[in-house]
Amino acid sequence: MTISVSEMVRLAKIRLEPVAGEEAAQQAKLIVAAVIGAEPAALMVHTWAQVTEEQISMIGDILDQRLSGEPLQYILGEWSFMGLPFYVDERALIPRQDTELLAETAIKLIDEHNKKTCLDLCTGSGCVAVSISKIAKAHVTASDISSEALSLAQENAELNEVDISFIESDLFEQIDGKFDIITCNPPYLTKEDMQNLQKEVSFEPEIALFGGEDGLDIYRRIANEYKPYLNPEGILLLEIGSTQAESVASLFDAKSSVLSDLGGNPRVLVIEP
Ligand code: GLN
Repeated sequence: MTISVSEMVRLAKIRLEPVAGEEAAQQAKLIVAAVIGAEPAALMVHTWAQVTEEQISMIGDILDQRLSGEPLQYILGEWSFMGLPFYVDERALIPRQDTELLAETAIKLIDEHNKKTCLDLCTGSGCVAVSISKIAKAHVTASDISSEALSLAQENAELNEVDISFIESDLFEQIDGKFDIITCNPPYLTKEDMQNLQKEVSFEPEIALFGGEDGLDIYRRIANEYKPYLNPEGILLLEIGSTQAESVASLFDAKSSVLSDLGGNPRVLVIEP
């Protein structure tokens, strides 16, 4: 028995509704597209096509995984950030659209102010470092405390054909030299946030999420340590939780400003010592 692509998408959407809510239709399309090997945007060109029995069973397995709470990104194994492809798996946090603001801000500064070198701390999947390297063509050094995250970031640098220097390091511990821009999306969830994690987020590494009791542990360490690593007129860009702008800014004895993401939430702190 085979069924049409549009019927398959409709059935998958109905099954996904309990876990995916408003995103059910979009996730159904992404799953069907991945299995039949079509570009999601071009899926409807294939509506006349039939989904084979083997493909129906593969889609069924993916839906079961998704219904158990596993994030779609981990199931598909690839996700887009800044319009670039990234491998994603349990080694690192899934790239968030909100984090594109951090990458975009760094890219803009590099383009407009002729900055040349960038250090990306807590690089995780490497999505920020790879985007900066690929789009702004700056020389990027990327570090993470997790060797597993770094191996994923390295695969993403290869996937996007960029040359990045990777260093396994607990923040600045193993870093040498000075940089024009330092970017960091550190773990910043509080103890309370960790107790109320969405099911999907609980599949992601705790080390990439938990920022200590009040979520600010890593910012405190960065505030104490970053200055020797910035060139004169260098800039530090930090992703922050939507309620953390003031508390993080107060840790730094430097001029700072806040940028908001597409949802209107404070998301990036720009620090210019
Ligand atoms: N923005 C992530 C979330 O809310 C948290 C990521 C982080 O701690 N850097 O799921």
